[in-house]
Amino acid sequence: MSQSRTYRVRTYGCQMNVHDSERLSGLLEDAGYERAAEDATPDVVVFNTCAVRENADNRLYGNLGHLRPVKDAHPGMQIAVGGCLAQKDRGEIVRRAPWVDVVFGTHNIGSLPVLLERARVQREAQVEIQEALETFPSTLPTRRESAYAAWVSISVGCNNTCTFCIVPALRGKEKDRRPGDVLAEVRAVVAEGAVEVTLLGQNVNAYGSEFGDRQAFSKLLRACGEIEGLERVRFTSPHPRDFTDDVIAAMAETPNVMPQLHMPLQSGSSRLLRAMRRSYRQERFLGIVEKVRAAMPEAAITTDIIVGFPGETEEDFQETLKVVREARFAQAYTFQYSKRPGTPAATMDGQLPKEVVQERYQRLVDLQDAISWEENQALVGREVEVLVAEGEGRKDGERRRLSGRAADNRLVHFAVDEDAALRPGDMATVEVTYAAPHHLVADSGVRRSRRTRAGDAWAARNGRPPAEPAPSGVLLGMPGVGAPAPAPAPVGGCCES
Ligand code: SF4
Repeated sequence: MSQSRTYRVRTYGCQMNVHDSERLSGLLEDAGYERAAEDATPDVVVFNTCAVRENADNRLYGNLGHLRPVKDAHPGMQIAVGGCLAQKDRGEIVRRAPWVDVVFGTHNIGSLPVLLERARVQREAQVEIQEALETFPSTLPTRRESAYAAWVSISVGCNNTCTFCIVPALRGKEKDRRPGDVLAEVRAVVAEGAVEVTLLGQNVNAYGSEFGDRQAFSKLLRACGEIEGLERVRFTSPHPRDFTDDVIAAMAETPNVMPQLHMPLQSGSSRLLRAMRRSYRQERFLGIVEKVRAAMPEAAITTDIIVGFPGETEEDFQETLKVVREARFAQAYTFQYSKRPGTPAATMDGQLPKEVVQERYQRLVDLQDAISWEENQALVGREVEVLVAEGEGRKDGERRRLSGRAADNRLVHFAVDEDAALRPGDMATVEVTYAAPHHLVADSGVRRSRRTRAGDAWAARNGRPPAEPAPSGVLLGMPGVGAPAPAPAPVGGCCES
């Protein structure tokens, strides 16, 4: 294969897909492809699709339609479609868009380079979908997007049957990775420079059920606490049903596990939770929140909420508002229910009119925004340590700020000196001077800063010289920040847990 064939991966959906795309890039680079420049037309375009968003298929076919003339003008160009929508639509994709060269599913992403090659040689579309996982994806080559923060999968698939969710149908039953393999990958990414790791699974609290250890997840968190150089451990997503006290204790007692919890509520109404086939009830959810707050008073708790699930009454919705008031989430990712073909909820009675859903959604957002703002205002005057990120602050350049996440995962934009030498991956301690509902601002300068191995790794990746050692608190020339990379958190949960 020519060394000069280039590729671009376009990713839709959740963290699982973003991480799978890192593997798709790694596989293609292993096979000799190079990432295409932003302004160049790639030789291979891969769509890593999501099936959970409304109109996901219309968007995909729209995008494929736009690409057709581009392909016609670039002989040899190939288009591949993978991910959840490919797993769902299979051969339908090449029927509706016959200019697509390869369709592959969620269980066989490792086949992409071979399928591209086969499509080229045989001059016909290759559709290959597996019903079960071929290789645990983490064993595949990976091109990690961030030098300082990494995702590590602990499991794929889900054994639950939430009626709004397509994951069990498309990603299959839960498969757990052995703890030794997970920890080996965590050590490897830390050795490469990462200081933050997010453990990924559809239901991390069920981790270990496959190999018969119900406390496997808390043990994994504690084992991460032993890894030298790993400063921040996060995870997503837990499920309230399987959330056990040993996990709360492990979070509280392991210093590098961050004081942050993203735990999907979905609805505050126990009646509706039953209809969603989520086997916890309002009291259990609030009980976990209470225990987490008792063990980690500084923890920021975030959630996902669906408004307008079929059959939701005003009383059900009031129960959701009640939980929101009591739990005092730092943030809530709120979704208006929309039918996802292939899920049981899509055919349930009691689908609500759009206006009703919209009106409730607005009330929920207004309430949550007010709470988020109050919670953030309580932090004004406090010191927070921020892991400098790239791509988190669109206006950073013009405002002479950098951005990143505090330990509790709150987004912080902070002012830097003209000569600040902080790189993505470095740490800055700042005082919060202003709070908005969805971010904090620290405009009184950096109090202390710390260069990290992650900052060095970022500099090496971006062809920057390693920074000269600077006396503590003294900041040197601020480098330009490279192309945005997705941060591993927070979770914009589309469907997980
Ligand atoms: S919502 Fe989460 S727990 Fe429920 S089926 Fe989907 S992935 Fe599993």
